Amino acid sequence: MDKREVTEYIKAEALRLGFDICGIAKAGPVTGGTANYCNQWVAEGNNATMHYLERNCDKRYNPTLLVEGCRSIVVTALNYTPENPVEAISCYAQGKDYHKVVKERLFMLLKSINEVTPCHGRAFCDSAPILERYWAVEAGLGWIGRNRQLIIPGKGSLFFLGELLIDIELEYDAPFAANNCGNCSKCIDNCPTEALRHGGFDARKCLSYLTIEHRGELPENIGEKMGNCFYGCDRCLTACPHNRFAVATPIAEFRPSPALRQMSSNDWQSLTKEQYDTLFHDSAVERCEYEQLIRNIKECKKDFKK
Ligand code: SF4
Ligand code: SF4
Repeated sequence: MDKREVTEYIKAEALRLGFDICGIAKAGPVTGGTANYCNQWVAEGNNATMHYLERNCDKRYNPTLLVEGCRSIVVTALNYTPENPVEAISCYAQGKDYHKVVKERLFMLLKSINEVTPCHGRAFCDSAPILERYWAVEAGLGWIGRNRQLIIPGKGSLFFLGELLIDIELEYDAPFAANNCGNCSKCIDNCPTEALRHGGFDARKCLSYLTIEHRGELPENIGEKMGNCFYGCDRCLTACPHNRFAVATPIAEFRPSPALRQMSSNDWQSLTKEQYDTLFHDSAVERCEYEQLIRNIKECKKDFKK
C-alpha cells in the first residue's frame, strides 16, 4: 500500500471499529500561540489544584517526545451520549470507564495498521499530557467552542477523543478552520457558577472540577447551583445548540447499568461504601472517592431523580 492507501485504510478501520470520526494530523510542536495561552491560563491559577497541568509541558507542547520517531497523530472520536441519562451523574461517566473502552479500540486500530504496514505507536485517551482538542482541530474534526469542548459539525460534542501517535508518515487532513459558535453564548449564559466567561474558563468555579477533582470542603452554598447532578455538570453541553444533533450511543459499555438507573433519591442519601464499590466498579466515577461523593450528595440540595 502507498501512503494514500494506508491513510484511507486507517480511516476505514477506525469507522469499522466503531469510532464516529477519524482525522489525521502531522505530528510536531503545537503552534499559533497555544503554548503561551496554556502557560498564561495556568499562571493565573485557573487550573485550581490540577497541578498535573503544570508538569510535562515539554511533552504537552510537543507530542513527538511521547513516541520515538512519531510522525502522525490519528485522532478519533467516540459518541458517549446516553439514552435517557441518569440525572445525578454527568453523561460521560454513566457507563464503563471510557479510558479503557476507547484505548481498547485504539489498540485494535494499531494492530490493524500493522497488518498492512509495520508501525510503532502508542494509544492515548485522556491519559497523557496531550492537548487532545488542539489535535482534534488540527486533524479536521471540528472546532473548540466557547464551552471549551470540541464540537464536531453535525454531531455535537458528546464524544470521547482518543489518539494514536505513530511513526509512519500519512496524508494529513486540513485543520478545521471555522468557528461555528457565531454570536451564541448559551453555554456561558447557562453556566451556574460563572466558571465560563467570554474568552476564559476558571476551573476553580466549575462544578465538574469541584465535584470530581477537588478534595476537601465544597464552597459555601454551591449545592444550590448543582441542580440534580452531584457528579460533574453538563449544563454547558446541554445548552449548546450543536448538541441537538446528538444521538444515543450504540456502545453498550457507555450505557448506565440497571442498578444505576434504579437508584432513588433516598438510595443516594443512604449510599454505603459497598454499594458505591458495586455501582462504580470499573467506572470513571471512581475518580471521586466514596467520601467525596457522599460530600457531594449531602451538598446537592435538590431531590435528584433516577
Ligand atoms: S461544567 Fe457546569 S460549572 Fe463547569 S463550565 Fe460547564 S456549565 Fe459551568
Ligand atoms: S453553546 Fe453556543 S457559544 Fe457555547 S459552544 Fe455551543 S455554539 Fe458555541
